[in-house]
Amino acid sequence: MGLVDKIREFLTGGSKPSGEAGDPYGILLYYRCQRCKTPVRIRVDRRNDLNREDDGPGTFVLRKEVMDDRCFSLMHSEIWFDSGYKIVASDVTGGTLISQEEYESLTDPSPPSEETAAPPDQAAND
Ligand SMILES: [Zn+2]
Repeated sequence: MGLVDKIREFLTGGSKPSGEAGDPYGILLYYRCQRCKTPVRIRVDRRNDLNREDDGPGTFVLRKEVMDDRCFSLMHSEIWFDSGYKIVASDVTGGTLISQEEYESLTDPSPPSEETAAPPDQAAND
């Protein structure tokens, strides 16, 4: 019957999977606070956050202020990208730019498997 076809069409055609694969315009940057050593991950949108400038070491420049969530000191950063959105120069005041690998090693939870090995300052965590 036509009704069944209608229902089937409704069921199969109603929900389209979003074609968004990942985050094509996002650039992830990793900072580390100079004062408290806290790593901070920042996402910038290359359509909105990057400015094309002729007078610099790269094609695009990002000027961003980043704050970590531990000591809340502000890091001022100026990061230059080439036309392929690769970092070619960076200048960060109050912190440093780190790689994704460094960020992951700094934030690696890797809890000790033995409960008795927990350090005493663990309780103050978060
Ligand atoms: Zn800090």
